[in-house]
Amino acid sequence: MKILHISAECYPIAKVGGLADVVGALPKYQNNKGHISEVIMPFYDNSFTQKNNFTTIYTSDLELGNSNYSYEIKTLDKNTLGFEVFFVSIPNLLSTDFVYSFDDTDRFLAFQIAVLDWVLTWEKKPDVVQCHDHHTALVPFLMTQVVKYKKLRKIPNVLTIHNAQYQGWFSYDKLHLIPDFDKARIGLLDWDNQINPLASGIKCAWRVNTVSPNYMEELKLHANGLELLLQHESAKCSGILNGIDPEVWDPQTDSYIVKNYVSRIAQSGKKANKEYLCNKFNLDKDKPLFVFIGRLVGEKGADLFASAFERALTESSISILLLGSGNSKAEHELNALKNKFEGTYNCYIGYDEKLSHIMYAGADFLLMPSRVEPCGLNQMYALRYGTIPVVRNTGGLKDTVLDIDNNGFGIVHENASVTDMVSAIKRAEYLYNETSKFKRIRNKIMAINNSWDASAQAYVNLYNSIIQ
Ligand code: ADP
Repeated sequence: MKILHISAECYPIAKVGGLADVVGALPKYQNNKGHISEVIMPFYDNSFTQKNNFTTIYTSDLELGNSNYSYEIKTLDKNTLGFEVFFVSIPNLLSTDFVYSFDDTDRFLAFQIAVLDWVLTWEKKPDVVQCHDHHTALVPFLMTQVVKYKKLRKIPNVLTIHNAQYQGWFSYDKLHLIPDFDKARIGLLDWDNQINPLASGIKCAWRVNTVSPNYMEELKLHANGLELLLQHESAKCSGILNGIDPEVWDPQTDSYIVKNYVSRIAQSGKKANKEYLCNKFNLDKDKPLFVFIGRLVGEKGADLFASAFERALTESSISILLLGSGNSKAEHELNALKNKFEGTYNCYIGYDEKLSHIMYAGADFLLMPSRVEPCGLNQMYALRYGTIPVVRNTGGLKDTVLDIDNNGFGIVHENASVTDMVSAIKRAEYLYNETSKFKRIRNKIMAINNSWDASAQAYVNLYNSIIQ
């Protein structure tokens, strides 16, 4: 089967969050199963494209409303990713040094048009097209409604929702940017008197899936305005849990971490990584180390962190290290805590892939008090590295973490509140001090298999159900 993934991100080429990790792993696992799974993404001007060489395999022009843009399709000269990647280069529009920006409507519409214009020229078309999130969610509409893409109408497509908070809305002033289609079908673009790419994708895609089963159920109740649409379309909606890529995330082979380890020597391996972090960030290595890694936004509960950390650090004997960036108020509050809790608290405001790996390896506990968590990869990385997740009972966290009092292996709390966060941290501290139970759980979690194998097959089953 020939599968084409269309995405704004793909690890290690361009990563903002979990979307990149998924698109950087799923095609590899589909190829391992004997399929031809390929990715097409924007060509960004970033460290990856600067360090690698590319060959242009196609050149053409595209129309975006009244403007014309030249674009190129490129491939990597030396590709060791385990799947083919095609890059769409549109200078002065798409090919910037950032992934997302203020003019994403124009940028990603041009991207989607370039992709489909080029696919039209393919002799052997894909058997299925898989779109990821709102940046590529107009593809199902374009493929089924736009006059010039008539030849693509019969190709099944799937929309994967990694995060329904962001929908890519834009006003009807930009309708002229969409290539010619039968205006009687304009309702397929609309949600709440705006053009809503994610809603359009849900309406037009042959199948829609979220990145965990529980998140799909939650979206039918709370989906930033799309609840009724998802209820209405529920017959074609499902959830497939993300996996993790052990070729990138394995404490035994991870080249980013200070000392590699397997379950048998987790104690000494994790200790070396913890010591590195504690020395670097001036933290007490004898206390249990809690970490947070992620975007500092309301979805992740970032507005609660400063108050919750202040209380937890005052009432418990722990250390906390945070890595992330986002909301400037949260960044400011989290920086301000450093003086008050010197020696037990520190943060690095920014993005650092290597540091994140050492934190998964060196921490005792990973905090994820998310309000919304479509799947969450961090908790699965933590499990693999023997770091016990402390999570809120929501989205994919609910599908992947069971509480220790339920014969499980994590600390689970119900509410995204300071009180719940602090009491969960206290439960974790208590567990840390029950040394033999703590070690037993650590060994148990390192043996959990959350790799992509099963999920990659679930996607193939989904494609088969529509190809036939
Ligand atoms: P989301 O996609 O909502 O941001 P996920 O849990 O699905 O959350 O994936 C987050 C991914 O991004 C993980 O690989 C995590 O390690 C990484 N990440 C997030 N913020 C940072 C950061 N500041 N530095 C390094 N890695 C980060």
